Amino acid sequence: MKTKAEYIQSITNPCWDRFQLQINVLRLDLIDPDLSGNKYFKLKYIIQYAVEKNYKKLLSFGGAYSNHIHALALAGRRYGLETVGLIRGEEHQPLNPTLQDAVDAGMTLYYLSRSEYKRRQDNDYIEEIKARFPDCYIIPEGGSSVLGVKGCMDIAAYIPSATDIILLPCGTGATLAGIAAACPDKQVVGISVLKNAYYLESDIGNYMSNLGISDVGNWRVEHDFHCGGYAKAPDDLTVYIEDFVRAHQISIEPVYSGKLFYAVEKLITANVFSAGTNILVLHTGGLQGIRGMQEHFSEQLVITH
Ligand SMILES: *Cc1c(COP(=O)(O)O)cnc(C)c1O
Repeated sequence: MKTKAEYIQSITNPCWDRFQLQINVLRLDLIDPDLSGNKYFKLKYIIQYAVEKNYKKLLSFGGAYSNHIHALALAGRRYGLETVGLIRGEEHQPLNPTLQDAVDAGMTLYYLSRSEYKRRQDNDYIEEIKARFPDCYIIPEGGSSVLGVKGCMDIAAYIPSATDIILLPCGTGATLAGIAAACPDKQVVGISVLKNAYYLESDIGNYMSNLGISDVGNWRVEHDFHCGGYAKAPDDLTVYIEDFVRAHQISIEPVYSGKLFYAVEKLITANVFSAGTNILVLHTGGLQGIRGMQEHFSEQLVITH
């Protein structure tokens, strides 16, 4: 067991010296061997609730390299719950390593056409899913339910009090909502990994109000660092990732953490942060994305500790 402070790692780069910043990384990727990063926090109260309500089966949605699906399958195995994954797109055999791990952990997979997958948040579609899987506790994509956001509030316990600004990647924005709600005295900056994800601002506000937390306006989303869109990995990003992994011995991947650190680098060198700022970069874990993109990289990116 590590202490909370042991998840903080300071990083330096001679090119940043002139900006006089303190840059720390919160290594949520190291929090749990099976449930990586923010998905550990998102699933915490979701699973607790399902167990309390005597559900034996959990169902959720995700892409073929989804960190959430992977974490859910492994959580199901750990807590003795059956799991069902509704996966976007067609089935491909052999299964990719992410889905193979999920199946090995006991998850049953079904595949949804892309048009069906688009309906995953519609109330009428959820009713259809409930009718089809009547004994399942249904978890939204990414674990981004009210309980998921509540779990992300617990990340605040790992954030050093001297922190001024927290940066993290945003998919649904649920993690940002939890952290901004729990850290009203800090600035929270989300890096959108999706292109044109302008719904994030209203979704994040809704996540907070659904928890009954008033939004003090201590957060914003940056929309210019998606590198071409979700799961896109242009050469400048992959080169950056290889250099970063070599320099800092921290594993990152192109879907979330790679875009985050690349954005941090660009913001620092654009002199966005004033001297003396204490920055916390949140490594939200979840390295499944690498498994679909290994061909972009010349070396093995996963550092094992
Ligand atoms: C799921 C995920 C995110 C996105 O979290 P949201 O709460 O949906 O914004 C960020 N980073 C990693 C590594 C993830 O797996």
